[in-house]
Amino acid sequence: MRIGTITNLAYVATVLLTMLAGLSFILSAQSAGRERLAVEQHLALGELIDDLDIGAENRTDDIRLYVMRGAEDELAAFYVDEKDERGFEAAAARAKTLGATADEIAILNRIVTEAEALDGIERAAVADYRGGRQEQARQAVFGPAHDAAHTTLRDSVGQVQQMISERTGAELTRAKARSDLFDIIAKSMLALTALVFLGVLYFVLKRRITTPIVAMTGIINRLAKQDFDVEVPQVARRDEIGEMTAAIAVFRANGLERERLAEELRRDQRIKDFILQMMHRLQACQTQSEIAGVVTLFMPQAFPGLAGSLYMHDEAHRCLLPRGGWNAPETSPAAFPADQCWALRRGRPHLSDASDHDVVCPHLEHGHRATLCVPLTALGETVGLLHLESTALDLLEEARLYLELIAENLGLAIANLQLRERLTGMAIRDPLSGLLNRRSLDEAVNRIAKTAAAGPHACLMIDIDHFKRFNDEFGHDAGDAVIRHVADMLQAALPEGGQVFRFGGEEFTLLIEGGDETAARHLGETLCARIAAAPLSDHGRFLGTVTVSIGIAAAPGDGPVATLLARADTALLAAKAAGRNRALTVSALAAHGFPTQAAAG
Ligand code: GH3
Ligand code: MG
Ligand code: MG
Repeated sequence: MRIGTITNLAYVATVLLTMLAGLSFILSAQSAGRERLAVEQHLALGELIDDLDIGAENRTDDIRLYVMRGAEDELAAFYVDEKDERGFEAAAARAKTLGATADEIAILNRIVTEAEALDGIERAAVADYRGGRQEQARQAVFGPAHDAAHTTLRDSVGQVQQMISERTGAELTRAKARSDLFDIIAKSMLALTALVFLGVLYFVLKRRITTPIVAMTGIINRLAKQDFDVEVPQVARRDEIGEMTAAIAVFRANGLERERLAEELRRDQRIKDFILQMMHRLQACQTQSEIAGVVTLFMPQAFPGLAGSLYMHDEAHRCLLPRGGWNAPETSPAAFPADQCWALRRGRPHLSDASDHDVVCPHLEHGHRATLCVPLTALGETVGLLHLESTALDLLEEARLYLELIAENLGLAIANLQLRERLTGMAIRDPLSGLLNRRSLDEAVNRIAKTAAAGPHACLMIDIDHFKRFNDEFGHDAGDAVIRHVADMLQAALPEGGQVFRFGGEEFTLLIEGGDETAARHLGETLCARIAAAPLSDHGRFLGTVTVSIGIAAAPGDGPVATLLARADTALLAAKAAGRNRALTVSALAAHGFPTQAAAG
């Protein structure tokens, strides 16, 4: 029941009880008035009757004394009493006003008559006495007639006294009983009112208001301090306190929701910050390894609940190679063909989990985790795959938008890097042989000249012998195949610190940082022997064999790094002149009868 209703009911009950108590008091007071009236009536009528009785008695005594002694003062007293007796009628009339009943008044009237009769006898006796008939007078007042009249009068007085006494006595008892009853009722009502008031005070104020409000104050104070862990009790009451408790519960729920949203916003912002940082780092990456490093560093920070792997597409092997993982992924394999992934097949992110609500990528290893594969594409080409996994599908779905955004940027970053690598390769490499080009050679020599003061360094200038004949005999394609063949053999024989370049045409340069002349000469001789011994074929056509001539120079042995190429070239010319298919060092030129000035120049 609502507190307002309880209070109103209690108020009405209190007012009613108070009114009843008041009414009882009024009735009690009225009964007390009646009681008082009855007492007064009882006393007044009693007094009146006594007066009548005593008056008659006195007069009789007065007249008897007079007729006995003849004393005039006794007669005077008789007349005084007789005069009083004249008030009998007035007394009877007064008795009416005092509430005497008709029977009582009738007796009173009879008493008046009887008194007058007695009075008549006595007055006649006075007349007889004055007329000298003393004996007659005495016989009159002491005679039986007088006694009879006197006794009748006394009996009547006694009768009326008894009647009035009985009546007023009964009335008095009734009035008293009524007065007592109303008094008890009034006091009971008062006590009941007090009880109701105290009950309401205890029940409403203490149990229904004070106790819950004290409890709620504690809760509100904690909520005001943003402590939403506080428990709001479930109250089944349908009153104001119940409504207030429900409102506080709503307030707390709103606070929790606000906190959740704020936390979500903070988490979102944190994820965005990590993603932004990752994007910035990705822009500056120069190698695919650096890209993998950045991704494996930032992904677990942005999405701590997700494990994952980064795959990059390897064109040469037509498969996806893992380049890095985070948070210990369980389902991603080492490498797999692109067609093993539904995401790569469809060109869209693919979500699957153990519940088999969708097809599972064949490349995934058995596990009970939910997985999300996001293709990394750029300009319509697949460049890699972002593979994510979690024990909860929800986490993947929540992060999906961000992951797609990351994948888009990551794909672009990888594609840009690949493009840059391709362009750089085109700038520094020879497309036919795949070797570094002449420009790269110049840069390498300059770099060595600038940095390496000590050395030693060696350079082998290699030229295919009679290459023109190959072209002429087997065509340019066969010539190209010979160039590739020699390039591969040079590449395969590279010593530590060595780099091979296509100098131009059918000429190659082998630069050995930290290699001395002797080692270079041995390498040159080995190369000559190996190449000469290796048979050549092109598209199933046997091309025979080729030989190479090699000129070798060293720095600082026989000159500075700046003239390394020129000196090696001189030695090459010497090797050609000496009959080809050989390796000659600058220092051996003189022994072969060549001038050594060129070496100095
Ligand atoms: P030598 O033994 O004196 O070096 O004689 P050679 O025939 O090897 O040298 P020459 O300088 O007379 O001829 C080189 C030829 O190599 C001329 C050119 O057509 C050919 N050539 C240069 N670059 C390429 C190329 O990339 N592919 C092909 N197939 N031929 C090339
Ligand atoms: Mg040549
Ligand atoms: Mg040649």
